[in-house]
Amino acid sequence: MTATRFAPSPTGSLHIGNIRTAVLNWLFARSTGGRFVLRIDDTDRERSEERFVESIRADLAWLGLTPDAEVRQSARFDLYQRRFEELRAAGRVYPAYETAQELDLKRKVQLGRGLPPIYDRSALALSDAERARLKADGVRPHWRFKLDPGMIEWDDLIRGHQHFDAATMSDPVIRRADGSWLYMLPSAIDDIDLGISHVVRGEDHVSNTALQLQMFEALGAPVPAFAHAALLTGAEGKLSKRLGSLGVEHFRAGGIEPQAIVALLARIGTSDPVEPFADPAPLIAAFDFSRFGRAPARFDEGELAQLNARILHQRDYGAVADRLPAGIDQAAWEAIRPNLTTLADAADWWHVIEGPVEASVDAEDRDFLAAAHRIAGAIDWANDPWHALTNALKEETGRKGKPLFLPLRRALTGRDHGPDMAALLPLIGRDRALERLAAL
Ligand code: GLU
Repeated sequence: MTATRFAPSPTGSLHIGNIRTAVLNWLFARSTGGRFVLRIDDTDRERSEERFVESIRADLAWLGLTPDAEVRQSARFDLYQRRFEELRAAGRVYPAYETAQELDLKRKVQLGRGLPPIYDRSALALSDAERARLKADGVRPHWRFKLDPGMIEWDDLIRGHQHFDAATMSDPVIRRADGSWLYMLPSAIDDIDLGISHVVRGEDHVSNTALQLQMFEALGAPVPAFAHAALLTGAEGKLSKRLGSLGVEHFRAGGIEPQAIVALLARIGTSDPVEPFADPAPLIAAFDFSRFGRAPARFDEGELAQLNARILHQRDYGAVADRLPAGIDQAAWEAIRPNLTTLADAADWWHVIEGPVEASVDAEDRDFLAAAHRIAGAIDWANDPWHALTNALKEETGRKGKPLFLPLRRALTGRDHGPDMAALLPLIGRDRALERLAAL
C-alpha cells in the first residue's frame, strides 16, 4: 500500500508551488490506490497560525484534493521525544552549546581559509566536566544529529541516481535550546510512523533528503522512495517572486476553475501534453514520475486561462448549474458555453438572451432588417427559426455571407460576435426577436 503526504507549514497560504506538490502527491496516491495524508507542519509555534491551517484545508477541498487523513505535528511531540531519546541513547544526537554568533564566526573563518563551512563538531570534543560546567552555568544546548561518514545515495524517481558525501555536510541541528523542533527530524519520524512510502516534494529539499536518509536508518526504519520535482518558473522562464503570491484566492477571483489548475499542474514539466481534463481520471491513470523532467517547469497564467476556457467548453450543465445566473437552462448553457472564458461570462450572454440589448444599425441595412422583421413574424419558431429566417432573407434580398448574417446578429444581440445564432435565436424567442428587429 502506497502512502504520500503533503506537508505544508501553516505560516502562510498555499501558493502555486506548494499546490503543485499537493497535486503530485495526490495524483500518485490515487494512481496507486494509496493514501494521501495532509500533514500540518506546525512545530514552529510562533510562525504557525490557525487561519492558515484553515485556509490550507479549504484550498485543498476547493481543488478537489481531499486528504484521506490529517495529522498535526504540534500534536505529536510525545512521539518525537521518545524517538529523540532513542537516538540520544544510541549517540546519534548530541548537545551543542555554541551561540549563533560563535557559529557564524566559525563559518567566516572557514570560508576565509577557502574551506567549506561545515560544523567542526567541537561539541563532541567537550569533556564531561566541561559539559557539566556549561550546564551549571545554565547554558542550554541545542541538539545536532550526528551523520555517519560515507556516501549517501538513492535513486530519485525524478532526478535519477543521487549521491552526497556525508563529509561535505554539517550535522544538522534538529532541536533548539528551548526544546522546540526544527523541521528535519520530526518529518522523518512522521514519515516512518505514518507509513509514508513515497516522499514527493520540490527539489529544494534534495540535500535534506540526504540527511533524512541517515535519520531513517538511525531510527531503524526502511527508507521511503523519493521524488523531487524541479521547481516552477514564471512564463518568462525565470524564477519569479510573483509565483509565491499566487494562491487559490487569486485564481478563484479570476474565474479559474479548480480542474484547470489540477490539469495544468499535473502536466507542466512533464513530457505529456497539457490537456483540458475536467475529470482527473485520465490524469490519474497516466501519472508517472518517469515523465517528469529535470528542467524547471514553466507556469504560465495565460496557458492556465486558455485551459480553463477549454475545460468550461466541455462541462455539462449539471456540473455548473448551481453557479449560473437563475434562468439559464441546459439549452442556454450549451448555446453560450463555447463562448466562455470564465464562468462569470455566462451572465453577460444571459443578458444578451434576456435583453434589453442596445443595438445600432447602418442606414444601408434598414430595409433589410425591416424585411427580417416581417419574415420573423411569419416563420415557424418551433423549428430552427434561424435557418428559416436567413434562408428566406437570402432568397428575397440576394444577400449572403457577412452582409446577410452580421446585421441580424447586431440587431438581435447588440454584438458583432457571440454564440452560434442557430442556438441563440430560439432562446431569445419570437417576442423578443420581433421587438429587437422592430426597434431599429
Ligand atoms: N513543511 C515542509 C515544507 O513545507 C515539508 C517538506 C517536506 O515535504 O518534507 O517545506
